[in-house]
Amino acid sequence: MGRAFCYVILGGGVAAGYAALQFIRLGCETAAQAGEFCIISDEAVPPYERPTLSKGYLFPEGGARLPAFHTCVGANDQLLDADWYREYGIELILGTKVISVDVRRKTLDTSAGETISYERLIVATGARAVKLEEIGVNGGSDAENVCYLRDIADADKLVRVMRSCPAGADAVVVGGGYIGMECAAALVANRMKVTVVFPGKHLMANLFTPKIAEFYENYYESKGVTFIKGTAVSSLQISSGKVTAAILRDGRRLPADMVVVGIGARANTELFEGQLAMEKGGIKVDGQMRTSDASVYAVGDVAAFPVKLLGGEVRRLEHVDCARMTARHAVAGALEPLGPITGEINYVPFFYSRVFALSWRFYGDNAGEAVHFGDLDFSASPSPPSAPKFGALWVRAGRVTGAFLEGGSPEEYEALARAVRRRTTVPDVAVLLARWGLAFIVQD
Ligand code: FAD
Repeated sequence: MGRAFCYVILGGGVAAGYAALQFIRLGCETAAQAGEFCIISDEAVPPYERPTLSKGYLFPEGGARLPAFHTCVGANDQLLDADWYREYGIELILGTKVISVDVRRKTLDTSAGETISYERLIVATGARAVKLEEIGVNGGSDAENVCYLRDIADADKLVRVMRSCPAGADAVVVGGGYIGMECAAALVANRMKVTVVFPGKHLMANLFTPKIAEFYENYYESKGVTFIKGTAVSSLQISSGKVTAAILRDGRRLPADMVVVGIGARANTELFEGQLAMEKGGIKVDGQMRTSDASVYAVGDVAAFPVKLLGGEVRRLEHVDCARMTARHAVAGALEPLGPITGEINYVPFFYSRVFALSWRFYGDNAGEAVHFGDLDFSASPSPPSAPKFGALWVRAGRVTGAFLEGGSPEEYEALARAVRRRTTVPDVAVLLARWGLAFIVQD
C-alpha cells in the first residue's frame, strides 16, 4: 500500500527547493493542489540554502537560523517555509529515507515502510561528506568532538562542540578545500587556535593557482591560522570518546580539543546503481537533465551533465548555483509536453566563497594559462589589505575559459561571467591585463 504522485522529488536540499518553486512558476498550482507533487527527504526540515551552514550558521553571535535561510532566499527569491509548501499543496515527506527504488516499476520504498509511485521522478539526493574511515583513519567519526559539515545536524554538532571549548582551544581542520577554508575562518571567529592539515601543496588545489592560494594562506596566517601542507592525518588519539590529538603521517602530534573534517564529498547514487547510466561518480543525464530512463531526471550534486561551454564535456559540479539552475531546467523538461519546450542546458559553471571579510567568485573552467591581475602580494605590508581586489583569467587558444575575482562589485562579476560565456578573445592577454587589469574585461 502506498501513495501515488505525478511528480516526486527525491531529496530535500537546495535543488529540491528550487525545483518546487519552478513547478509553481511554470503554472502547476492546480496540479499541486490536486496532490500531484511531493518531496521526500531524510532531513527533518524543508529545503534550505546549504552554503549558510559553513558561513552565517557558525557566527559566534547572531548566527543564521531557520526559517531565515530556507530556499530560495539565496537567489534573492521567495522564502519557501513549511507554510509555503502547505499553501501550494506540495506534500513534504520529511524525516523519511528512501531505501530502494525500482525504476522499471516507478516506485520508491521508504524507511517508513511505504511504497510511493511516480510518473516523473527528479533525483536530487546530493552528496555526502567523505568520512575519515574512507581514507583509512579509523575511529574518529564516532568521537564526540569530531565534526563533519553537510547538514543541519552536523552544523548543530559543530556549533555545540565549538562552544564547549574555551577560548584559545586547539582546533585541527583536516582538508584544504572550501569546507576546510570556511570552517577554519569560522573557528578563528569563535576564538579557537586553528591548524589546517592537507596533503596538497596549497589551499583549494583544484581551483586556486599557487599565487592565489598564497594570498589566502598569508591572509589566514595573519589571523593566526597555521598550515601544515604536504602531509595528512594518519590516526587520531582518542580518550573517553573524545579525540585528544591528531597524529600526522610525518610523525607530528597535534593536540586537538576538536577536529573538523572536510575531505570531499561523494554523490548519493547508490539507489540507482545498476538501473541508470553513471558517469564521473554521478548519474549521467542529457542536456535536459534526463537520465537513461526517460521518466527520471537528476539534478544538483548527483548529476553528471554535458557542459556546452566545455564542448559538451560531462561534468558533475558540486556547487549551489548549479543545483539551482539544473533543478529549474529539469522541471521544465519534466513538465513536457505540458510545459515549455526546453532546449539543452547551457550552463556557465559558477561558484563562490566568503571567509573573514573576503569574498570571491569563479566562473567557467580553470583550464589553460592563468594570468593574474591586481595586487596579490601583501608580504611587505604590516597587515593584510582591508579590501583586496585581484583575480585571474584562464586563457586557452587566445580565449577566456575561466575567471576568478576577489572583492569585485556586482558589475565586475557580471562582466567576468559575460567574458567566460562569450569566450572573449584575448590576442595578447599578458600585455592587456598588465596594462588594463580588470578594466579590460569590464569594458568589453
Ligand atoms: P543537497 O543540498 O545536499 O540535498 C540533497 C538532499 O537529499 C538532502 O536533503 C539529503 O538529506 C537528501 N537525501 C539524500 N539521499 C536520500 C535518501 N535516500 N532519501 C531521502 N533523502 C535523501 N556551493 C557553492 O557554490 N558555494 C558555497 O559557498 C557552498 N558552501 C557549502 C557549504 C557547505 C557546508 C556544504 C555542505 C556545501 C556547500 N556548497 C557550496 C555546495 C552546495 O551546497 C551543494 O552544491 C548543493 O547543496 C547541492 O544541492 P543538492 O540539492 O544537489 O544536494
